[in-house]
Amino acid sequence: MATFIKCGWLYDGKGETAAADQAILVQDGTIAYAGPAAAAPARKQDDVFLDYSGLFVLPGLIDLHTHLAYGNAKSEENIDIYSPMEFRALRGMFFAQQVLAAGYTSICSPGDAGRISLSIRNAVDAGLFTGPRVMAAGPYITSRQGLADWYPTWIGTPETGVGHLVKSLDESIEEVRRQVKEGVDCIKIAMDGRMKRADGEFIAAFTQAETSAIVEEVHRLGRKAIVHARGREAVLYSARAAVDLIFHASYMDEEGLDAVLKNKCSIAPTLTFLRHDIDFTQPTDQAFHHGRRAASQAEFDTACAVLSRAYKLGVPILPGTDSGFALTPYGEWHAKELDIFVKYLGMTTAQALRSATSLAAKFLSHGAGVGAIEAGKLADLVVVDGDPLRDVTVLLEKQRIKAVLLGGEPVDLRQRSYDPSKVSDFSHQWWSTLYTRERVESLFGASRVAA
Ligand SMILES: [Zn+2]
Repeated sequence: MATFIKCGWLYDGKGETAAADQAILVQDGTIAYAGPAAAAPARKQDDVFLDYSGLFVLPGLIDLHTHLAYGNAKSEENIDIYSPMEFRALRGMFFAQQVLAAGYTSICSPGDAGRISLSIRNAVDAGLFTGPRVMAAGPYITSRQGLADWYPTWIGTPETGVGHLVKSLDESIEEVRRQVKEGVDCIKIAMDGRMKRADGEFIAAFTQAETSAIVEEVHRLGRKAIVHARGREAVLYSARAAVDLIFHASYMDEEGLDAVLKNKCSIAPTLTFLRHDIDFTQPTDQAFHHGRRAASQAEFDTACAVLSRAYKLGVPILPGTDSGFALTPYGEWHAKELDIFVKYLGMTTAQALRSATSLAAKFLSHGAGVGAIEAGKLADLVVVDGDPLRDVTVLLEKQRIKAVLLGGEPVDLRQRSYDPSKVSDFSHQWWSTLYTRERVESLFGASRVAA
């Protein structure tokens, strides 16, 4: 069956501008024709006809940093501990559909507990549910100095947590092989965490030799290597090991940048998360009292300076939002990263849109079929009331997303509301401050001190 789509404007995900009065013909989910309506094959009587005259059509968008199992969590404990894995998988499927409804037809879920992301991927691929196309990782490979090994040594990384703690290079290689056997598309390595040297610099969680050996095994098994690396050292080791994608890279130095360029690594800076830390954190949030705002502002400024330079030198800068935290709820903020690329990294709107379509597709394991509107690609499309080439923030406005098509089929954009307190809010922290006499007096006045 064929679908004939009339487009007011069409942006193909590769060019500089959109073209007016275009048409797309979809045959069995794949684009058979895309171009001027005047030159399109004649519309047949039994073709499904979708009339998007007056609207702007672009390729389905891609977010490379959406953790399907995090559940809009307010704490790491909420991510790792409180809900059963089975519930998280159902919850992840629900949230994946919210991501899709925002116009994001492909995502990378770069690190989740157990086999949750790859199970959601498989359920979608098998046709059990409508959802975005997922490139899935398993738990992060981490060391005692890496992200996701949050807890004291006597607790370690729980089985239900997002990190898998390795205590030797042999264990790292074994974990890579296990995850590949289970079917991941990419392996996430926690290349740094919160450990810093006395001079304030982040310490890499693995040595150069360890990093190179792990990445070599990932590549030998035909998978992509992705890393969380904020510090100078973690970025440098990752880039020298020729990882495929570096998340953050905030404190990359010239040596790291040279290695990134030499080994053709891509970077997904995930600046949305920092921006939201700066702009949204309130005095009632625990994060506020831990000085996160100032730290995030400093990191944001440093990252923007080095990443603008990297972009000018030709490093692919790809979009990701770290969606899945309370700061970055699913389906809400994916296009924010593009706005940041334009306002802080010096991209044009067309460059930002290419980053979220044809360029991000080059990283995806299923990328050959998506990321552009041209014959032979899957008909994953977003239909917008507005011109994202003039202002990318129109993509953040839900009421402007008029349709999202997956393989030529419009998906249901209605969003069911849910009760967050039954979904992800299970942390046992009950008070946000210490009620000393002094604090009580300052909050409520002296009269509250006595019973
Ligand atoms: Zn992340």
